[in-house]
Amino acid sequence: MEVAEKKEFRNYDQSDVTAAVREHYRKMRMNQTYDYVQRMKAKYLTFDKPMSLWDAMGKLNALIDVSDPDLNLPNVQHLIQSAEALREDKRPDWMQLVGLIHDLGKVMYLWGSDEDGTSQDEQWGLVGDIFVVGAKLPDTCVYPEFNKLNADMNDPRYNTENGVYEPGCGIDNLQLAWGHDEYFFQVLKNHPTNTIPEAGMTMVRYHSFYPWHNEGSYSQFEAEKDQQYKEWVLDFNKYDLYTKSPKIYDLDEVKDYYLPIAEKYLGKGPIYW
Ligand code: FE
Ligand code: FE
Repeated sequence: MEVAEKKEFRNYDQSDVTAAVREHYRKMRMNQTYDYVQRMKAKYLTFDKPMSLWDAMGKLNALIDVSDPDLNLPNVQHLIQSAEALREDKRPDWMQLVGLIHDLGKVMYLWGSDEDGTSQDEQWGLVGDIFVVGAKLPDTCVYPEFNKLNADMNDPRYNTENGVYEPGCGIDNLQLAWGHDEYFFQVLKNHPTNTIPEAGMTMVRYHSFYPWHNEGSYSQFEAEKDQQYKEWVLDFNKYDLYTKSPKIYDLDEVKDYYLPIAEKYLGKGPIYW
């Protein structure tokens, strides 16, 4: 894998990072409350919209992730780049597939709204690093100066170290900021012919949970299996991050290779979004 220098990525301090990224995180931190997350789960986890995996890939040709300071390309290019890097490293076929599809939850924008932050124009309920709702926001969040804008931080139920959770409850039992990760995890979990291994499902669900997997926050909630979870997610993270390059792929070009893998782990039928 071509690995770029680590310092070149996720640099939010440089002056050429657009104000849009910062504004995205201001809105995200302000609006992603415990109550908001419950409402979004009830609204979007309906699994009643059939669309094939490949059609979903095509839909991401029209979406640029505003929260990403590293890549100004349609999101599908990032997916192909991740998958191709995994393939080059001869990682297991299911992990290559996870590279190809890990951000597909962003198709939520097709039926999203500005008000929910799930549209092309307002992406604060769709993309970006996620955090726990229902407990105190840590300083390890990007732009921690925005933490105080979150209404939950004035609510004694939610603004303590443990908030609504028990210590050691396990990462799977936390409520995380709403976005493409949890959405796609739930869509896949609901898909009857999904046989993606647990490691792959964990990579999908937690790849944006940087304060946990990259910064060591929320260790008070970890259960024993979460060390394994973290290893899986960090292993995947290299391909989510360091493979970003301006190289452009054609979706049709890679279809012959990836479609059989997709059918092996997900079957041939449509996915219900
Ligand atoms: Fe992502
Ligand atoms: Fe990604």
